[in-house]
Amino acid sequence: MSTYLLFLVIFASAVSVLRATRDIPGRVALDNFPLIDGHNDLAYNLYNKLHNQIYNFSFHKDLSQDSLFGSDSCKSCNTDLVRIKKGKLGAQFWSAFVDCGPHQDAIVSKSFEQVDVIKRLIDKYPQDMEFVTTADGIEDAFLRKRLASLIGLEGGHSIDNKLALLRQFYQLGARYMTLTQSCSLPWADASPVDSQPEANKVDLTNFGKKIVLEMNRLGMMVDLSHVSHNVMVQAIDTSRAPVIFSHSSAYSVFPHHRNVKDDVILKIKQNGGIIMVNFYSAFLGERHVTIKDVARHINHIVDVAGVDYVGIGSDFDGVDSFPKGLEDVSKYPDLFDLLREKNQTRWTIENLEKLAGRNLYRVFKKVEEVRDTLLHERPDESLIPDEDLARAAGSVKKYSKLLTFITVVVMYTLRV
Ligand SMILES: [Zn+2]
Repeated sequence: MSTYLLFLVIFASAVSVLRATRDIPGRVALDNFPLIDGHNDLAYNLYNKLHNQIYNFSFHKDLSQDSLFGSDSCKSCNTDLVRIKKGKLGAQFWSAFVDCGPHQDAIVSKSFEQVDVIKRLIDKYPQDMEFVTTADGIEDAFLRKRLASLIGLEGGHSIDNKLALLRQFYQLGARYMTLTQSCSLPWADASPVDSQPEANKVDLTNFGKKIVLEMNRLGMMVDLSHVSHNVMVQAIDTSRAPVIFSHSSAYSVFPHHRNVKDDVILKIKQNGGIIMVNFYSAFLGERHVTIKDVARHINHIVDVAGVDYVGIGSDFDGVDSFPKGLEDVSKYPDLFDLLREKNQTRWTIENLEKLAGRNLYRVFKKVEEVRDTLLHERPDESLIPDEDLARAAGSVKKYSKLLTFITVVVMYTLRV
């Protein structure tokens, strides 16, 4: 073979290898490493619709046409095992969430019931789901072709200002706690205060910082979705381990107080944490939100911090409207295909694996490592200071006084 011919053969095969690599769709990443979703509220729907009585709940069937859980009757029902398999989901943090606010009762006991129903659902489907409490457990379940199922406690209201309850939720398997949900707590503000200039802010109090430190000691991930901007900054500065946003998107792409501003995205890079992008339409854009908007939020976080600090936290089953093209748990692969289709240099299969799960796995592993260096620390016995409780009670009183005043004015005006 002449040198010229040899060169031609080598060149042609190099081109075909390159073309073949380029033709690999993004979804292939989900076969290599488990896709870990940071947030799904199915358990809240089980409470709401079934009072947690799940023996007649057919999670193993496609529920999209179901009379109770189908998309026609329930806008926030997006999950079942058939569609999870289609969607190549490898691991799920199931959210243990109960409503917050001054008029809610039995918050703690209801929260324990949510942990219970998640565990019972996992036990009901042993061929499909596996209860997991460690980073390595996620990979093990993936190898056994089971959905790694973890618990995330959504909202510090569930621990009723008590470190003892935090520890007990950890003992039961909760591996992250979102510091607040949408209600501010006596020790931490929730994100709505960022759009209320007159709000009485407490930021993250000293007791709130103790909660963060105790979570580090336990090996429980600190979740900053839902907290105010100041609390995000202060919690990152306090934490001895990387922190997460289990379901939050990018503020610069769409300015909503639930989204994360660029200064915090940069702090997450320094902290080694992760922002898992939320699919809720109301956090993603103004109107006609599509799968492309989710890609925009993901790409923005990568623009600011790099590909190591981003993940997926859909919020399926927690909200009532999702982007066109990402309506339920069967659609994740389309997002990975889309990202790769639009930018193959950025979205190599390796980088898509990071987005899918390697980044969260790294954070979780580090949180466990930090826990192992803190074995000498004793559990924190601190109680919430009376001043924190008094201040919180004061602002609730002030708020209800204001509400009474507005009601009286409205009633007087309308003469009702
Ligand atoms: Zn939430």
